Amino acid sequence: MATVTAPRRPAAPKIHQTQLFIDGQWTPARSGKTFETINPATEEVIAQVAEGDAADVELAVRAARKAFDDGPWPRMNARERGRIILRLADLIEEEIEELAALESLDNGKPVSDARAGDIPLALDCLRYYAGWADKIHGQTIPINGNYFCYTRREPVGVAGQIIPWNFPILMVAWKWGPALAAGCTIVMKPAEQTPLTALRLARLAQKAGVPDGVINVVTGFGPTAGAAIVNHPGIDKVAFTGSGETAQIIMRQAAGQLKRLTFELGGKSPNIVFADADLDAAAAGAHVGIYLNQGQCCCAGSRLFVEDTIHDAFVARVVEGSRQRRVGDPFDPGTHQGPQVDKAQFDKIMGYIEAGKKEGATCATGGKRVGDRGFFIEPTVFTNVKDEMAIAREEIFGPVLSVLKFSDMDELIRRANATTFGLAAAVWTRDVAKAHDVARRLRAGTVWVNCYDVFDAAAPFGGFKQSGFGRELGERGLEPYLETKTVTVSLDQPRA
Ligand code: NAP
Ligand code: MG
Repeated sequence: MATVTAPRRPAAPKIHQTQLFIDGQWTPARSGKTFETINPATEEVIAQVAEGDAADVELAVRAARKAFDDGPWPRMNARERGRIILRLADLIEEEIEELAALESLDNGKPVSDARAGDIPLALDCLRYYAGWADKIHGQTIPINGNYFCYTRREPVGVAGQIIPWNFPILMVAWKWGPALAAGCTIVMKPAEQTPLTALRLARLAQKAGVPDGVINVVTGFGPTAGAAIVNHPGIDKVAFTGSGETAQIIMRQAAGQLKRLTFELGGKSPNIVFADADLDAAAAGAHVGIYLNQGQCCCAGSRLFVEDTIHDAFVARVVEGSRQRRVGDPFDPGTHQGPQVDKAQFDKIMGYIEAGKKEGATCATGGKRVGDRGFFIEPTVFTNVKDEMAIAREEIFGPVLSVLKFSDMDELIRRANATTFGLAAAVWTRDVAKAHDVARRLRAGTVWVNCYDVFDAAAPFGGFKQSGFGRELGERGLEPYLETKTVTVSLDQPRA
């Protein structure tokens, strides 16, 4: 008989760093201000964190500028840069249990998800880009005339990196990996909801041998610290992940200096189930698509298109599975779903649930808060959803699935593409030709076939349409951190 051992609960993590990290030093905000970061499972304050603003960003940019313009980082042997990035990955791996617990405490995600998902993906990303550090090079080009022409790939300079709260450690890795490999220096602002792990990673980067000033982390708020990064003339490029609304503000502000921008924004991704699919796999995929990370994924499969002939039976499965999901303490290893990240997100999601009911969709399961402490929401499935309803058009960023019925291929493609977003999509079918045909016709940056949320550091990720500009990960993810310089040398002999 199988024996069942009691699941081990991780120890409460230590909070090591709560100050700004500027030029290799830990420092309070110039203003002396701090803000609270809270545990979304209990609504209790975890720690007071330095509230950086424009004055601190000024110091951080000066440090990053000095490190870029005069420091060793962009000038050292590229292979050595790669080794330092690998060391950072190793140090993160050594602390994986503690980092997973810290991530879970600050964000609310199940600690088992952080341990098995976020952090391994972050390690994969850092190690992948460490490998690129010494493989970034230009070309020789056979131009007309008696010339030797070649290109150099040079780092773009100081990168301002502004990240959200949904995958704090992973977003650090996606931003630091390519920037460091390219030889850039960094001023990062983590999200106000989840500042703790980025600060810890800055400490580990220092231990790994990243020189002072190469990575600076300014915790604080978007309209103050974030805007100061965007506006500072010492920042060459801004990489932003978050909402389309904030991206528009950043674009307007960056316009005056024609700053390079990359955006990874939201989505309303279609997850399409054909009648000939492996329905067990598709039902599991529908759950991963919408419920991963409490629904707080830019690529969430929030529009589930189901072919009419299997609609009722398939939806019954998805609903039943949703009822089985265990919502609760993120530190309990049996938990599938933790709380939403904060009250604002909780309220926004509950607002969409109310809107769905008012607009006439059927709430087939869920729709309510769980408990009275912490920001927990039941896994929620709406059926009888019409394309024009808010729950079918807008990004909810929570555990709320909208099911749409389809019967015809052309109609399906038109409806799936009828969105301002274009981040991701998935298709479930046993018909290979149909899978490739749909993959070609969907206007999205990533299409998964018979899977969902499969990420790899080597595979580019990013959006069509209003889901963003540029790509992260893969070789494409390096591009935004590089400039191309063309050098043309006359080969005419100097006259004696
Ligand atoms: P957000 O405002 O776009 O936040 C993302 C980051 O941008 C945070 O670090 C934020 O700082 C910063 N920021 C805010 N205003 C800024 C400004 N004027 N200049 C520079 N930086 C600024 O997103 P949110 O308010 O946290 O979430 C709202 C919605 O955005 C969600 O409901 C979801 O739909 C979407 N979202 C998408 C993603 C994604 O992965 N694509 C991630 C998170 C959220 P603060 O810490 O002050 O907020
Ligand atoms: Mg915000």
